[in-house]
Amino acid sequence: MKTAELLALDAAHVWHPFTQMQGWLDDRPLVIERAEGNWLIDTEGRRWLDGISSLWVTVHGHRKQAIDDAVRAQLDKVAHCTLLGQASVPSIELAAKLASIAPEGLSRVFYSDSGSTSVEIAVKMAYQYWQLAGRPRKQKFVALQEAYHGDTIGSVSVGGMDLFHERFRHLLFPVERVATPHAYRWAGTDPLTESLASIRALFEARAGELAGFVVEPLVQGAAGMLLQPRGWLSGVAALCREFDVLLICDEVATGFGRTGTMFAVEQEGVTPDFLCLAKGLTGGYLPLAATLTNDRVYGAFLGRFDEVKTFFHGHTYTGNPLACAAALANLGLFETEQTLARMAPVQAVLAEGLARIAALPQVGEVRRRGFMVGVELVKDRATKEEFPFAERRGFQVCQAARKHGVLLRPLGNVVVLMPPLSLTTDEAKLLTGALEDAICLPLPRGGEGRGEG
Ligand SMILES: *Cc1c(COP(=O)(O)O)cnc(C)c1O
Repeated sequence: MKTAELLALDAAHVWHPFTQMQGWLDDRPLVIERAEGNWLIDTEGRRWLDGISSLWVTVHGHRKQAIDDAVRAQLDKVAHCTLLGQASVPSIELAAKLASIAPEGLSRVFYSDSGSTSVEIAVKMAYQYWQLAGRPRKQKFVALQEAYHGDTIGSVSVGGMDLFHERFRHLLFPVERVATPHAYRWAGTDPLTESLASIRALFEARAGELAGFVVEPLVQGAAGMLLQPRGWLSGVAALCREFDVLLICDEVATGFGRTGTMFAVEQEGVTPDFLCLAKGLTGGYLPLAATLTNDRVYGAFLGRFDEVKTFFHGHTYTGNPLACAAALANLGLFETEQTLARMAPVQAVLAEGLARIAALPQVGEVRRRGFMVGVELVKDRATKEEFPFAERRGFQVCQAARKHGVLLRPLGNVVVLMPPLSLTTDEAKLLTGALEDAICLPLPRGGEGRGEG
């Protein structure tokens, strides 16, 4: 089928996620047909550098031989079988592998299919845990402003992004909010000590009602790659321990090397009570998620059948064998290819290109941890005034970067770079060069304000 025909059918039938469909075709969508390494290839045969890892999932590049082979080999055995009442080979092997690479003590693995469900499960487990532990008043969750934990109602409840969540306000359960400890737009003087002091005050007053603290460690991704000050996460972990509040770390975005270490929590020496994993778990191949927890939580759910302590939760495709096989191969590559060590020189090239971008008058702040980058565009550098929502400034810059064969997607006025860990130094130069050029281009003013940006 030709591209025009495909797009006509797409416009007639496919409702795209996070997309204003009115005027969708005016945005000149690409139709991707195949891929090679870090490049996507569209139906016209054009090659595009995948600057956002196909929405933050691709780890070692597309069509990675070892993962392709693992999925094919599993296909010759069984594509799917349930984990309700039976076990399967790859789900067992993967759980053991995850337990061996996660922070010590996170030995119990509960599978699901998406980042949203991995958080939903942690929230439900924490909630049930306190009932089983004889402290049923501990029911409330604490979360950061501008948090993003997914799109199901429970994960939206702990999320805090007004743009996405406001319409659903009446469907959500109430959550205690803590200000995002993000230096660039912090209202006080010291986000580290002031934020930790406010959390301590909250815990001192209310810990008896608090079940858990949900947080994206080190980087709040969807909020615009907001960085936490060093020491913040370990400070929160210490407070959670002191006041017996369960710590839920959502590493759906930060997990699997994205911040430079296998898991972001490692950089602060933190072992949470729950570790939520999804996006990069299968290397970007198949939808799979895991919620890891410890023996304290797991043990509370053990009992005689008629005590009804069972965790009544499970998705039909839980622990899908094809996805688990892909994940095992993905994790194996971190060892055979020394992926994390090989990121270092590429990070240096990224940092060099980003330093030039940070000096541009249109740029308020460049934020980076490992391969997670946010470039915040501002109307006025001195006052940090934001571009109006309707101008879709981030979107316009991403469209302009296409001239260089680079695919990006913004978060409002923040342009995101989230390349695969397999990015080469040449590709890193192309990526930052394309973004620099796109930011400097005179952009069309005004505009329809069609999309979410
Ligand atoms: C993407 C993301 C989610 C949601 O994952 P889905 O697979 O889209 O449901 C949750 N938490 C964080 C931090 C994310 O970045």
